[in-house]
Order: sequence, then C-alpha cells, then structure tokens
Amino acid sequence: MEGIVCVHCGANNSSIYKQFSNEIIKLTKCEKCDNFVDEYVETEYSIIVIDMLLLRKEALRHVLFNSNLKVAWKLIVLYILCDAYEKMASQKHFWNKSYKSDIFINELELNFYFMCIKSFLEYFIFATLTVVILYHSQEKGAKRDNKAL
Ligand SMILES: [Zn+2]
Repeated sequence: MEGIVCVHCGANNSSIYKQFSNEIIKLTKCEKCDNFVDEYVETEYSIIVIDMLLLRKEALRHVLFNSNLKVAWKLIVLYILCDAYEKMASQKHFWNKSYKSDIFINELELNFYFMCIKSFLEYFIFATLTVVILYHSQEKGAKRDNKAL
C-alpha cells in the first residue's frame, strides 16, 4: 500500500495492518508516534461519519488519506440529502400551507431540489477548505521533518 498516513501525527507509514493469516490481522504502529497508524479500519462507517462531523482530525485523515473513497461518496450523498431535508423542514412557512394542493406539492419538490443544490454547494466549499488545509498542514509537517533530519 502506498501513501498511508498516521491518523494521529500525519507521518507517512508503509501499511495500516499486517495480515498473518486469514484470521490474524495486526494493526501497524506508527514509526513516529507509536500509536496505531489507523485504527479506523476497524471502525464502522457510521461512527467515522459522526467523528467527521465532529471534525476529529483522525477521522478526516482516515477518510482523506487512507480509505477507499467510493463508500465515502455514498455517505456524502446521504449527508447532502439529509441536510437538504433538514433545511426544508426548518422553513416553517412551508408547512403551514395546505398539503392537499398540487401546486404545493410541486413547490415542495422544487424547493427540495433547490435545497439539495444549496447543501451540495455548502458541503463542497466546506470539503474543499478542509482538504486544502489538511494538505497544507501535511506539507508543512513534511518540511519540518526534513529540516529535523
Ligand atoms: Zn504517528
């Protein structure tokens, strides 16, 4: 595996775990800080998402550097849908109207798409900033290490 990063200190490592047989897998310890490189490989995705929303840098590093992104994309879509729903539900004036009219249903649907786009843009800006800042701090850390050597 290439490009594995320790979720605790950001140091590069060669692997997350070593497999000794079908059943025995041992998590690798970081060469620098002696914590497990990435114990999130054993963590359920729902918990990782909660940690990400809490902006724990370990979870963010795990998803950005060490995980396969396909599942992450699915979760992002799920997050955007939930966020759009929440945005819509918080618009009180919408729910006071009669829900029987067709116009209201169309309006509701259109509004939901609009909220999806809004959520997506918000998330996109948030994610871009997070990635830029993380990569930047990663680079800084690498430069610092080189100087120390
Ligand atoms: Zn480390």
